[in-house]
Amino acid sequence: MGTVVDAPNREANGSLSEKKPTVVFVLGGPGSGKGTQCENIVNHFGYTHLSAGDLLRAEIKSGSENGTMIQNMIKEGKIVPSEVTIKLLQKAMLESGNDKFLIDGFPRNEENRAAFEVVTQIEPEFVLFFYCPEEEMEKRLLSRNQGREDDNIETIRKRFKVFLESSLPVIQYYESKGKVRKIDAAKPIAEVFDAVKVIFTAKDEKVKHHACVIL
Ligand code: UDP
Ligand code: MG
Repeated sequence: MGTVVDAPNREANGSLSEKKPTVVFVLGGPGSGKGTQCENIVNHFGYTHLSAGDLLRAEIKSGSENGTMIQNMIKEGKIVPSEVTIKLLQKAMLESGNDKFLIDGFPRNEENRAAFEVVTQIEPEFVLFFYCPEEEMEKRLLSRNQGREDDNIETIRKRFKVFLESSLPVIQYYESKGKVRKIDAAKPIAEVFDAVKVIFTAKDEKVKHHACVIL
């Protein structure tokens, strides 16, 4: 998959990296509440929410040539090749016109993480990590009824395993860089958002303070 994919990637990136967008990765196990809390953050703090899973599901629906491959991987709880997901994220970032993004459910493994950094030249501002025990996540996934093909107990178990084996190392990597903001996501939605708000408000205050120092 050489030059055919690389050329548009580089092009997309030219205008993206010039914009120096702010990116927050939102990570946590399946059913930890990433999507729900991202909606709240969008409403309060003006970010654009990009769910990697939603972008992949839209790609299946659009009838793209990758659709069947993506659908099979999601059904198995496997991680779709980085270049597919990264291209969708780049396109969505460019089309949004915004410069602040919540990237939800990505990067899911070390390869995703490294590829995103190389291709986009973007490092996340911080990583919001929703921590939630498996029993609670399982309960939420089985009761949410969103018509998702991967919300059945068999696939859920596979997704938990992939999260522990492949995604937790990404969180550990950012932890070692002091970039992880960990949230107790087992609480009710409003309480979780209270904790989230503190983190995003602290970030805005830091920007204001920095602006004052410069002035
Ligand atoms: N997925 C993927 N790469 C991504 C994001 C999602 O391959 O960057 C696939 C993967 O198969 C995953 C599924 O999409 O299990 C659903 O992901 P989503 O983030 O929507 O749901 P979650 O598992 O976090 O509840
Ligand atoms: Mg989600």
